[in-house]
Amino acid sequence: LSVLGIETSCDDTGIALLNQNGEVLGNVLNSQQKFHTRYGGIIPPRAQDLHRAKIAEVFENCIAQAQMTPEQLDAIGVTTRPGLPLSLLVGLRFAKHIARKYKKPLVPVHHMEAHALQARMEQNIPYPFLCLLISGGHCQLVFVRSPSKFSLLGETLDDAPGEAFDKIARRLRLFLLPKYEHWNGGRAVEDAAQHARNPSRFEFPLPLARDRNCNFSFAGIKNNSFRNIRAVERQEGTPPDGIIHQYHDFCAGLLAAVSRHLMNRTQRALEYTIPWFGNAPRSLVVSGGVANNDYIFNDLSHLATHYDCQAYRPSKKYCSDNGVMIAWNAIEKIKENSNCMRWDYDSLSICGKATLGENLLSAV
Ligand code: ATP
Ligand code: FE
Repeated sequence: LSVLGIETSCDDTGIALLNQNGEVLGNVLNSQQKFHTRYGGIIPPRAQDLHRAKIAEVFENCIAQAQMTPEQLDAIGVTTRPGLPLSLLVGLRFAKHIARKYKKPLVPVHHMEAHALQARMEQNIPYPFLCLLISGGHCQLVFVRSPSKFSLLGETLDDAPGEAFDKIARRLRLFLLPKYEHWNGGRAVEDAAQHARNPSRFEFPLPLARDRNCNFSFAGIKNNSFRNIRAVERQEGTPPDGIIHQYHDFCAGLLAAVSRHLMNRTQRALEYTIPWFGNAPRSLVVSGGVANNDYIFNDLSHLATHYDCQAYRPSKKYCSDNGVMIAWNAIEKIKENSNCMRWDYDSLSICGKATLGENLLSAV
């Protein structure tokens, strides 16, 4: 089985080619990050233009890297939901074009399901598992029973954690520092936090502490951050470089607050789902771009240990968006049920918003 994966849901054009064992034969990623940080965020029509400009080249490079021809493919996985509609369209149109040209079936892939299953490509993680998806656009707790059975336990009521890191890093003007110029906000905050002297200098709230469910909220931490930064600037005057000099301490406090909230909600989900594991080994999978964060992952690993639960995450290069996770998701789906391969290309369309599996939000 040779499967191509095409990812264009946001600002990365990613295409990869895998065999059925999850060996990566080709993997090409064109990130638009440098372009978008210059404009303070993603401008959807520009993201679409950049996908369009690059996608054919990314495909050819991927096929060349794998030393294969498109004729040898068995199926093409493509992200169809959720994401920026203009970006998703480019990937789906390209996938249909390749599928028609070489007479190959398409497998539509849900972007968050792909994040959730990615860790299984490299590690032997049995179903079922609890999954915490933490990324630039989502924060979700899901119980995963199979490649097609997901139960949503909780999700963010406002911002995603990656989004909060990105916005706060921008407000701190961290991207003015040459070191962080081309980094994402989460990675910059993680790095700055490592040089803190007094991590408890700034106070942050613990959101939804009284809510008896598994939902998340990052707007409070974000607004509290903006307020604190403004207060320091008022008190001490904005420094010439624009960056408050306590930014290391600030980032350490922020990171600890985000991690505490993630642990608090994940603990609830663990308590709730322990009976669902029965005698099976318990696993917690952390995935999405924010899973790159060692501090957060270590905290969650410790928490899991208390519940006899092993924590996993994908290797760092596969935590954020890429074509590999789309191909891997298609492979998992094909192995489970080959009917997921679609020849009725015309009936496949994109969807900007799409929930994940069965919704148990109100039950938890
Ligand atoms: P979604 O998957 O929800 O559609 P996305 O695909 O844009 O969103 P990802 O590519 O999975 O998100 O992750 C990007 C996010 O991960 C960014 O917001 C970034 O700040 C965050 N991130 C990346 N590295 C780290 C890190 N080391 N620590 C914390 N956050 C990080
Ligand atoms: Fe993503």
